[in-house]
Amino acid sequence: MGAHIETGIDIVRQHLIDPEICIRCNTCEETCPIDAITHDGVNYVVNAQVCNGCIACVPPCPTGAIDNWRNVLRSEAYSIDDQFGWDALPAQHEEINAPVEVPAHNDEAPVASDTVGGSTVAPWSAARPYVQLYTHKAPALATVVGNFRLTDAAAPSDIRHIVLDFGALPFPVLEGQSIGILPPGTSADGRAHHARQYSIASPRDGERPGYNNLSLTVKRVQHEDGNGVCSNYLCDLKKGDVVTVIGPFGNTFLMPNHPDSHLLMICTGTGSAPMRAMTEYRRRRRATGETGKLMLFFGARTRGELPYFGPLMSLPKDFIDTNLAFSRTPGEAKRYVQDVMRERADDVAQLLGDGNTHVYVCGLRGMEDGVMQTLEFIARSHSLDWPALWERLRREGRLHLETY
Ligand code: NAP
Repeated sequence: MGAHIETGIDIVRQHLIDPEICIRCNTCEETCPIDAITHDGVNYVVNAQVCNGCIACVPPCPTGAIDNWRNVLRSEAYSIDDQFGWDALPAQHEEINAPVEVPAHNDEAPVASDTVGGSTVAPWSAARPYVQLYTHKAPALATVVGNFRLTDAAAPSDIRHIVLDFGALPFPVLEGQSIGILPPGTSADGRAHHARQYSIASPRDGERPGYNNLSLTVKRVQHEDGNGVCSNYLCDLKKGDVVTVIGPFGNTFLMPNHPDSHLLMICTGTGSAPMRAMTEYRRRRRATGETGKLMLFFGARTRGELPYFGPLMSLPKDFIDTNLAFSRTPGEAKRYVQDVMRERADDVAQLLGDGNTHVYVCGLRGMEDGVMQTLEFIARSHSLDWPALWERLRREGRLHLETY
């Protein structure tokens, strides 16, 4: 139930998730080591009977929605059914809001760094990000200045490159960060749609250099269960339409800025968005003499469904080492990014053994385990001490996983 407070009356500090800020990315539920977090079609909630206040879920949350606490009488703790019905967090009852000392975490429970596979810190040379400048209560408005289909016209997937301009409104971002989009309208139960999160696909100096704009990589989702509200809204936008935006979010999945840092990027489908942002940032800085290497493993169903195929193929070979994996090319064997990584094991191992290498994995949730197992396989088969290396990568902010 969060933290127990010794006060004479039985007050507990209950852990809650702010439904107004939460972007329903499932990170907290996946991170919680004791399954205290659950969700319905509307809200993510914390079961007070199970939560032990270990805060393993707090650092990975991209928005900070997870970090909310209320002092409540134990007998009046909010049930998960209460929380499923909320549009906003309840106010703190003043009469039980005595100042109390709460442990940073329960010493008997695992802390975040023991429960997540990737880093919970940014690379040492990353620029300092701005986060949550715009919220549900005070969002930013952006104008659509471009909406281009990235996939072949005949391909079943409709993936789009959408450019949003913020005009004179400050909206500073870094590669690897994301924003939340608030789609208009309400769901069947009359509630406003919650925000959906999208990674930024453009570099910090704008989709167009020197402009206050950014781009997103959005796949149209067609599900009958109500999913796809936001992706369809975005994919249908026209030039001049105005979009409501919150964020930016994310303070760890960031790129290093030291010139000899290497990027090992592994992605599938629209998980390519942050890789495009980082690659483009490096491409624009090529003339500065940066010596770091870029190696990319990118998976899609077919060539026609791979976002940014054309631009990617025209990047100089001495700038980026690009490796594609297609899983559904007619007449060819199914290949995942892991298969191609194994084929390039010597080069991957060389990067893994270099203290300047930063690893980024983004895309389907299902790929994460396979990619981590492949990194382990490659490390072990090249006499690298994987447990020690893995721990070092995490500690030094050099292993970043963002999968949904
Ligand atoms: P997709 O087209 O469904 O899949 C891309 C490729 O990944 C396909 O070739 C697929 O193969 C393959 N794949 C499936 N399971 C795999 C596994 N276990 N290991 C390795 N490869 C696997 O992908 P998508 O629809 O674009 O989805 C991308 C994901 O990225 C979404 O879940 C999205 O939420 C997430 N994401 C998006 C953003 C963003 O900003 N847009 C940011 C972060 C993450 P088969 O289907 O043929 O098996």
